[in-house]
Amino acid sequence: MQARSARFAAMDLPYVEWPLPYVEYLEQRSLQQVDLVVIHCTELPDLAAARQTGEQVLYASGTGNSGHIYIDRDGEVSVFVPLERIAHHTRGYNPRSIGIELVNTGRWPDWLHSERQTLTESYPEVQIDALIEVLDHLQREVPTLTHIAGHEDLDTTQVPASDRPDHPVYRKRDPGPLFPWTPVLERSALQRLAPDTSNPTGTTP
Ligand SMILES: [Zn+2]
Repeated sequence: MQARSARFAAMDLPYVEWPLPYVEYLEQRSLQQVDLVVIHCTELPDLAAARQTGEQVLYASGTGNSGHIYIDRDGEVSVFVPLERIAHHTRGYNPRSIGIELVNTGRWPDWLHSERQTLTESYPEVQIDALIEVLDHLQREVPTLTHIAGHEDLDTTQVPASDRPDHPVYRKRDPGPLFPWTPVLERSALQRLAPDTSNPTGTTP
């Protein structure tokens, strides 16, 4: 068992500290600027594949894309990025948010295929129970944390389908319709950050 940081030591469930090789190149932040948790699913077959993807270096800074915390189907929790570092997981929301990735097949391996846009794997109860525990813990550690959102709520970009250039599909659909929002919201004190649809034209009211 690897050493546990003080930040997670009080959490009442097993977890593994497994920092990505490049974490020291991720920008540091004050936790006081963090008010949001973004829920993702990995859209990959297993945790090992998610780890490989997270380790890929994509930017000149020597870093890549990942969430902070990964929760496997059996509820095992792995911390890939310390909360005090900005992980790259949601365009436009990274400095203020913590990214939580649930291992789930999603649309893998044809993410953008026009006929593969339904997420069909449900989230096991033990995985959701672990998520609730993590959320509870994060709220104790980060008092400014008030909101939760799905990646699909925050990135609504459409791109051409991989098989049909004339057919737009959503770039991000995670965590998808099978994510149990109602119990998660009932069992945590976080409020869902819904996309602002009250002013769809973007004009000043
Ligand atoms: Zn995502």
